[in-house]
Amino acid sequence: MPVSMILGTQWGDEGKGKIVDLLSDDADVVVRFQGGPNAGHTLVVDGETTVLHLVPSGILHPKTDCVIGNGVVLNLDGLFQELDELKSKGVNTEGRLWISDRAHLILPGHRALEAHEEQGAGAVGTTLRGIGPAYRDKMARIGVTVGEFLNKEAFLTALARQRVWRERLVPSLPEESIDPDQVEAQMGVYRDRLKPMVRDTGLALVQWAKQDRRILLEGAQGTLLDVDHGTYPFVTSSNASAGGACTGSGIPPRMIDRVLGVTKAYTTRVGLGPFPTELGGEEGEKLRAAGGEFGATTGRPRRCGWLDGLALRHAVRINGLDGLIVTKLDVLSGYETIKIATAYQCDGELLTEFPAGIGALEGAEPVYESFPGWSESLDSMRHWDELPQTARNFVARIKEITDVPIHWVSVGQAREATIPGPSLETKVRVGR
Ligand code: GDP
Repeated sequence: MPVSMILGTQWGDEGKGKIVDLLSDDADVVVRFQGGPNAGHTLVVDGETTVLHLVPSGILHPKTDCVIGNGVVLNLDGLFQELDELKSKGVNTEGRLWISDRAHLILPGHRALEAHEEQGAGAVGTTLRGIGPAYRDKMARIGVTVGEFLNKEAFLTALARQRVWRERLVPSLPEESIDPDQVEAQMGVYRDRLKPMVRDTGLALVQWAKQDRRILLEGAQGTLLDVDHGTYPFVTSSNASAGGACTGSGIPPRMIDRVLGVTKAYTTRVGLGPFPTELGGEEGEKLRAAGGEFGATTGRPRRCGWLDGLALRHAVRINGLDGLIVTKLDVLSGYETIKIATAYQCDGELLTEFPAGIGALEGAEPVYESFPGWSESLDSMRHWDELPQTARNFVARIKEITDVPIHWVSVGQAREATIPGPSLETKVRVGR
């Protein structure tokens, strides 16, 4: 079956949007399978920037169908705002964007709850969009699905059921965020517009795969933010790694042919949580400025540091990666020395595998390998052989450390600023 997957190998923001957009040239269908409007994929096409939060990155390719799978949680106001923006740029989404009837809705009460919880001690630095509470309600079996929303009576019943539970636990939320009639007054306006997009997307995807339509599963966030395999509790509320693609889309594991991972040539992280290779002070500022490392959704400055080989190998293993795409190599131009962590010193012990415990990660002292840098600007280079030898050595070492072929190296924001990597025997495409 012609199904491929593309995932972030770090804490998100690896540049997946650009890569998915490129691969979408070959894809008939692009699928989001987890996360919510906290994703911020930035696409630059013909000099024009589009930032997508919920809509799959394939939407800029007119012939590509896009699916928001059952594993996603969505806010309808955000969805329609994004669709209106796309329309104003001449992108037609009608008859090409499909939303799972099993996906869960982010409701006003979820945002109110998160605002309440993220005050003061115990905050985990979320994007305050109600995503965590929506996933929590899904697991607690008091969530509300898109399918329920389409039927007003079913929606009111589901809201009333949720309210009973909510009030037992959090008695102080604003009435307009939990009263079923008031929530219906805010959200019901979207019902007729949503209806034609909703279907059993799991069924459609499997049928399409059997018809040999090429399907690309697009991960949001990254492996280190995965609720099971990331740096818990400083993670997102969904499975951002390969397993989540099956549960979040309805495509069974054995239909998936290829899994590709995206990594920056360095590391960034937004919000709280351990980050062993983080650079502090001026060094961190320098990397942030060079890479434009500010959140696409929130504008928050990202924490920056060197590439972490242990974390990358963890991502390779968890996802069973067939290939890697290294982005933002251009950002490292001008560094005399570039580093990759290949081990951690932790409590007198040398660790070579990424540990689970936050304590171990917080106490970890990275052991670095250093590489001579390059001064040339890379963003106009288009061939592997054009890259400075030092840049090629650095990428070759990433391949060695991970034991995974490097399919592409990205050297700029534009679609064209993408170089086939040294191990590219065949053209990278979706499917076989
Ligand atoms: P995503 O969430 O993984 O899709 O990451 P983003 O969309 O936030 O991508 C991070 C930013 O890096 C965006 O502004 C991209 O346009 C930009 N970008 C992607 N690849 C490259 C690259 O190779 N070089 C540079 N300089 N910027 C890139």
